[in-house]
Amino acid sequence: MRFHRAETAFFIFSALILSAALGIFYAWGQVQGAAEALYTPGWVQSVEAVERLLFMIALLLSGTLVYGVFFIFPQIRTQVKEGGELRQMTASLSERSRTLEQAALTDGLTGMQNRRYFDDALREYLGEFGRIDRPVGLMILDLDHFKQVNDTYGHDAGDEVLRSVAKCLKSMTRYYDVVARLGGEEFAIVAPNMDIELLQRFAERMRKAIAGMAIEAGGAHLNVTSSFGLALWDREETAEEFYRRADKQLYEAKRQGRNRVCA
Ligand code: GH3
Ligand code: MG
Ligand code: MG
Repeated sequence: MRFHRAETAFFIFSALILSAALGIFYAWGQVQGAAEALYTPGWVQSVEAVERLLFMIALLLSGTLVYGVFFIFPQIRTQVKEGGELRQMTASLSERSRTLEQAALTDGLTGMQNRRYFDDALREYLGEFGRIDRPVGLMILDLDHFKQVNDTYGHDAGDEVLRSVAKCLKSMTRYYDVVARLGGEEFAIVAPNMDIELLQRFAERMRKAIAGMAIEAGGAHLNVTSSFGLALWDREETAEEFYRRADKQLYEAKRQGRNRVCA
């Protein structure tokens, strides 16, 4: 059994009282012996008074000790136990809230960041990169005719396609790009530090990589294509306006026949 500091202090306190009490009992015995040896009536009376006093002090100390052992110590014990449990509970609660926070910002299917994370990150990136005067690019991509994949091969195969596309996007982006699944078969990438040409080439590489994948799902090797809408932040617009501009380009890519990048 391990003891808390307060408990150890209490033991020392008890040991001190106990030794004092024993000392007094011993002194009381000595005084009694002396009283018998030096037998004179006046001397004996005063020694008897000291004896009574010592005896009462010894009783008081013993009582204090009993009180400490049976009342104070159990209270310390309970408090130490409750304190330990509380600390443990607090630790597990904060661990749980960290996990929940993580879950609230992560997409369950692909393990990517989710829409909520993306919205905050986009605003933050515009603030930060705007401050140091660096460009911020945004790509929104949507899988083409994805409904057909689900209808033909089943929803599980569709999920597998989404996971594969997510993995592909993750592997092609840089660590400071924000890559998120916005919902359904729509993804977004916030790519700072690129001018529009670099951004376009980056998107083209990803579009080709997705089109080139043969995804094993639903008992077949599936091919999917994707359409990209790009925009470079104009330093004036809000995150929402910036997003709408990229989304318009995505719509344009779909309108022009899909499997392409529009900027
Ligand atoms: P378009 O080229 O115009 O984008 O056509 P589309 O079929 O990809 O677009 P549409 O919006 O008609 O269909 C999207 C489909 O994505 C419909 C929905 O069932 C499917 N979907 C959305 N979320 C999920 C998901 O989590 N898992 C799977 N398997 N399918 C999903
Ligand atoms: Mg689609
Ligand atoms: Mg869509």
